[in-house]
Amino acid sequence: MVSISDTELLPAIVQHARSGEVLMLGYMNKEALTATLTSGFVTFYSRSRQRLWRKGETSGNTLRLVEIRQDCDGDALLVLAEPAGPTCHTGRPGCFFRDLDETEVSGPVPPVAILARLADRIQARRDSTPGESYTAKLLHGGVDRIGKKIGEEAAEVIIAAKNGNPAEIAYELADLIYHSLVLLEQQGMTAEAVWAELARRYSSS
Ligand code: AMP
Ligand code: ZN
Ligand code: ZN
Ligand code: ZN
Repeated sequence: MVSISDTELLPAIVQHARSGEVLMLGYMNKEALTATLTSGFVTFYSRSRQRLWRKGETSGNTLRLVEIRQDCDGDALLVLAEPAGPTCHTGRPGCFFRDLDETEVSGPVPPVAILARLADRIQARRDSTPGESYTAKLLHGGVDRIGKKIGEEAAEVIIAAKNGNPAEIAYELADLIYHSLVLLEQQGMTAEAVWAELARRYSSS
């Protein structure tokens, strides 16, 4: 167990457990760490309010704890969490959306974060009516409908490659990836199963 004295405050970086996106930075004292571990919701020590602060206590945008790690020398924490909504109080997914000129930057988010956002959006379409959304239409069309689309998009990728056109290849691969994520959702699966399989193959230590 990481050793925190009663007066110490450790910086705690919060990272989206599935996408890897860095969401926010907070501080934890011993009490906040204990509260986080026992409640399963990320709880900081608020330096401005000088009290424990369970993230989302007023907004409802909580962070469900998935895992906590300490760094090499035990003076910083990495908190992997599943956010219930936007983590930043501005309504953005995370707090690090400005560069040093205070200009808003849109990216880059880690590539897998884009996939996780897309997968979340596809999942949300489950409850839409097929008339409203193309994704909902695919999800309600059964395996034949999505299977046919994947076959078509794979063929379009091949044509794009034969044309040697990078923009077309990127466009058609994006189509193929989107439809692959729809197929996972149609099957009641999440992309995690695919990431785990890739990790099993390529994360040799
Ligand atoms: P919440 O914990 O989301 O209910 O928000 C409570 C208060 O904490 C807000 O009014 C903000 O002042 C502050 N706050 C919320 N989220 C953040 C954040 N990601 N970083 C810094 N302050 C925040
Ligand atoms: Zn350190
Ligand atoms: Zn923020
Ligand atoms: Zn296409």
